[in-house]
Amino acid sequence: MKYYDKLIFELSKKGRTGFSLPENEFCASRNCGRKPSGCLCNALPENLRRAEAPALPEVGEVDVVRHYTNLSQMNFGVDTGFYPLGSCTMKYNPKINEEVASMPGLQALHPLQPASTVQGALEVYYNMEKALSAITGMSCFTFNPCAGAHGELTGLMIMRQYHILRGDLKRTKVIVPDSAHGTNPASAAVCGLEVVVVKSNADGLVDVADLKPLLGDDIAGIMMTNPNTLGLFEREIGEIAALVHECGGLLYYDGANMNPLLGMVRPGDMGFDIMHLNLHKTFSTPHGGGGPGSGPVGVAARLEHCLPLPRVVRNGDGTFGILGESDESAGKVSGFMGNFGIILRAYAYILSLGKQNVRLAGKFATMSANYIKESLKECYKLPIPSVCKHEFVFDGLINDGSRPEETAADGTVTPAVPGATTLDVAKRLLDFGFHAPTIYFPLLFHQTIMIEPTETESKETIDEFIAVMRKIAEEAAADPMILKSAPHNAPISRPDETRAARQPVLKFRDAE
Ligand SMILES: *Cc1c(COP(=O)(O)O)cnc(C)c1O
Repeated sequence: MKYYDKLIFELSKKGRTGFSLPENEFCASRNCGRKPSGCLCNALPENLRRAEAPALPEVGEVDVVRHYTNLSQMNFGVDTGFYPLGSCTMKYNPKINEEVASMPGLQALHPLQPASTVQGALEVYYNMEKALSAITGMSCFTFNPCAGAHGELTGLMIMRQYHILRGDLKRTKVIVPDSAHGTNPASAAVCGLEVVVVKSNADGLVDVADLKPLLGDDIAGIMMTNPNTLGLFEREIGEIAALVHECGGLLYYDGANMNPLLGMVRPGDMGFDIMHLNLHKTFSTPHGGGGPGSGPVGVAARLEHCLPLPRVVRNGDGTFGILGESDESAGKVSGFMGNFGIILRAYAYILSLGKQNVRLAGKFATMSANYIKESLKECYKLPIPSVCKHEFVFDGLINDGSRPEETAADGTVTPAVPGATTLDVAKRLLDFGFHAPTIYFPLLFHQTIMIEPTETESKETIDEFIAVMRKIAEEAAADPMILKSAPHNAPISRPDETRAARQPVLKFRDAE
């Protein structure tokens, strides 16, 4: 019997209980004079008690445990398997982070407690700001944004505020490369800025010749990520930074996936003025299910006055305080100072790696990605063959198994066979216990498969993934239907993807 075939209510049998305990022998007041079973000294006042017993399922304890444990195993996460999602750094979440975040002294804080009673928490913010500034080459950070895209919006608000404070009101356009993460143009639009697209060249890098004519006194700035979403390092970043600064614009760095640069290269040194980080990608805190996340935004010294408030500051006497108001701040972007529990986890991660090891994360992630790329390029189309950073893209199968319609000499017609697509490869991977990579993103190719292994996977796990990807390519060449009907072992197979995302059925519906 599969425990997840049914709802817990459908498992209910009248009168079945999860446990049995002897009746309470103790009366709270010890002198009410009633037998223990009839004693009401501990009971809720009459007017607060429900008239009928609640409609709870009546199930044995072991059935409850199995039901929910099995349900939890229908989910896929980094704790259960390899999750090579490109542009998303699904790295392992070290358990020491959880230990630190669940320390009672940190867990029970209230955001409105006086600063004098939360000095330790404020010190964490302060030290974390110093650590991220050292890693990125920025001058200071705000921890208020609760996600990467929220950080982008905050960073663009800072950019706009900087120009407004200087009385430079014409700058309403933001340049975004065509390879950018979809949140970049979306954030610019939400901030009320106009998006101008700059093209990539044949090497997958920003085309400087295409950029030059876009620059002018109406440009607020450019949003870039480096390495870009194809996993390629923008080698012309020095020239791009000089050109954008020359026209009076600022450079925004999308540091959601800063993993390959950790301890090696700093966006601040590349000429970036504003950036965000995703603590829930690069700094090992959990993501998925929509949060909670953290997208701290860092700025160069000349933009510090535009940071959103509140902020932690160090007082003259060495204690920590909270700066709540200023006339120049870009405004308020969240309830208080972001998701403290997530910031604690990332702080634990940085301290546990230390200065020496933080740079190993990016090196190993880069090595793993190149190893997979080189091992699979005989079976999957590699549109950009150069050395990649922490991630790379394939453009579908080399042999997708498709065959044209054939007419034999006797006139019998064998119908055409459609080839296996990237979606089919992704679905088939689930049968082998691997989460699918990112597919059909970035939009520069038609059959994109974007793979990011991260540094925490062992060589054995990566070799197993490579072997499965090869096997899937062989299956496709022999009989694409094996892929097209996959997954064969998952609890559900192929839902309508749009409706599953837009109109999910999350509640039990009685059979009509
Ligand atoms: C994930 C990601 C984002 C958005 O981060 P969220 O926390 O999902 O809002 C932005 N840019 C890049 C490059 C990303 O990979």
